[in-house]
Amino acid sequence: MDCLFCEIAHGRVPAEIIHEDEYCVAFNDINPQAPVHFLVVPKHHIPSIADITEADQRILGHVLKIIAILANDKGLNENGYRVVSNVGRNAQQTVPHLHFHILGGRSMNWPPG
Ligand code: 5GP
Ligand code: ZN
Repeated sequence: MDCLFCEIAHGRVPAEIIHEDEYCVAFNDINPQAPVHFLVVPKHHIPSIADITEADQRILGHVLKIIAILANDKGLNENGYRVVSNVGRNAQQTVPHLHFHILGGRSMNWPPG
């Protein structure tokens, strides 16, 4: 399958990898929207949150824990950060492989655009 984040997750397309383990990878977004903007993706191909199955649940719990660890490592705990996962057209998901955006290092607006 021709999937950009599968390619990055398996080292076939380069990225600024900041974490890798058996289940997920984290890398800096190529077009950062905040001083800190990285993505965490499961290695296993899942198109979006809408496609999560029972079998994926342990991996997703792990992914959330990794998000918390990496955000803390980047110094984001003091002032906070945002975690976003766009699902489908209305949310403007552009890469159809489940990913979480972690954005921090500046104050943000709510509601999002
Ligand atoms: P989405 O719009 O699907 O929620 O988020 C996709 C994200 O992937 C965007 O923020 C975009 O900048 C990022 N992205 C797209 N292509 C690449 C790439 O080749 N490398 C990296 N590091 N990020 C990418
Ligand atoms: Zn994929």
